[in-house]
Amino acid sequence: MRIGIDLGGTKIEGIALEADTVVGARRRVTTPRDYAGTLDAIERLVAEIESDAGRTGSVGVGIPGVVSHATGLVKNANSTWLIGRPLLVDLEARLARPVRVANDANCFALSEAVDGAGRGFETVFGVILGTGVGGGIAIRQRIHEGPNQIAGEWGHNPLPWMTDEERAAAPACYCGKRGCIETFLSGPGFERDYARLSGAERSSQDIVRAAASREPHAVRALERYEDRLARALAAVLNVLDPDVVILGGGMSNLPGLPSAVSAALPRYVFSDTVRTKVVLNAHGDSSGVRGAAWLWSSGP
Ligand SMILES: [Zn+2]
Repeated sequence: MRIGIDLGGTKIEGIALEADTVVGARRRVTTPRDYAGTLDAIERLVAEIESDAGRTGSVGVGIPGVVSHATGLVKNANSTWLIGRPLLVDLEARLARPVRVANDANCFALSEAVDGAGRGFETVFGVILGTGVGGGIAIRQRIHEGPNQIAGEWGHNPLPWMTDEERAAAPACYCGKRGCIETFLSGPGFERDYARLSGAERSSQDIVRAAASREPHAVRALERYEDRLARALAAVLNVLDPDVVILGGGMSNLPGLPSAVSAALPRYVFSDTVRTKVVLNAHGDSSGVRGAAWLWSSGP
């Protein structure tokens, strides 16, 4: 039995997989906003899952960040109470077994590669389009992490082929740079672009509804989003040339996004034909927790 824990900024989820089937209930608790409380919550979740199933399992944990190979401490986490903590060592002590920890976007890519929308493809680029923009790479059903543990972190590359208007409007990013892909393709970035076009502030859902009734600024904001995503992905294709790009996160639910992006890619990719597929994820918001469980199927 493989237990997966998805340690999110607002909730911690846990499941157990037997082969590729979920055993028992999917469990979910609110994330304590302190380190000791987070360790307690994970320990309790694992104990509940195991008493439910009547047996023990391996444990994989997806986190918003990574445990640095160099220091053993968490870095790049937006859940700031994890930063600088020896999470892996502490979890292994609490759970009395070896634990595997990986970045949550990498868990998403792995989950989809193993038994989701990327099944049967060799190289999978998993994309998270949410309040932030991240990504992960799975090659032959293994996470490709890289020596700096940043493989797939395309959200903090600059938006490619920026127009003069985009360059002038390019917002500052929390990472210290300007014009990051994340500032255009996150949910807040989409809302900001609509506000720039229309002078009105609306939520992403409202903008999508307005676009469906052909409100011109909303239609334009959607078209711009699709074209920017195609540009951002074209740069990934030119380096990684993945077999499939799998879209996840709240913004992946924009209507018709995969087909619009597929249609726009040939304008930017350095190839006369583009065979890479762009598809929606298969496991929705369960992908992260499933991928965490699969950390024990695919080597470290
Ligand atoms: Zn940035």
